[in-house]
Amino acid sequence: MDVSNPQTRRTSNRRKKLNRLWNSKEHKERVKAFIADRPCQWCGSMEYRTAHHPYRSSYGEDIYTDLELSQCMVLCRRCHMALHKGLKLCPICKKHYAPFERDMCFHCYCEKYPEVMEKVNSSKEKRKEDQKKARHEAYLKSKKWKEEHKEHKEHRNGKDAAKRPDKRSKG
Ligand SMILES: [Zn+2]
Ligand SMILES: [Zn+2]
Ligand SMILES: [Zn+2]
Repeated sequence: MDVSNPQTRRTSNRRKKLNRLWNSKEHKERVKAFIADRPCQWCGSMEYRTAHHPYRSSYGEDIYTDLELSQCMVLCRRCHMALHKGLKLCPICKKHYAPFERDMCFHCYCEKYPEVMEKVNSSKEKRKEDQKKARHEAYLKSKKWKEEHKEHKEHRNGKDAAKRPDKRSKG
């Protein structure tokens, strides 16, 4: 990080302050009170819930520490992680996650369009088959080459053996 740049220095200081705030006992209490007995807003799970802050950049304003006003979300760990990866809970199955811009997850897509999946699978099968064929051909080629090479070697060895006495008699 370039600390000589006032912009990055400001950001880094801000982040430090922000982290200090997040880790303060006061804020932890606030989060705890906010979560209370609310289930995950996405999937309804009660496990490992956290408060996701959608407007971290609003730090410095009083609204930031007011979790209700800043529209914090109660999310379970799984959903929270998905959200930060740019995913959302699939609105159809409410079980898997989907990219934000999609209207369903891959599982639901497969169920809705079985013909697409059939095509995907059959082309996969075909690719596998082709790869197998190519591997077998390569094996046959190398086997043939080895056999030829062996013959060639034997042939040369025979020649060399016949040549050697010649050389010796010359030297
Ligand atoms: Zn959840
Ligand atoms: Zn978050
Ligand atoms: Zn789904």
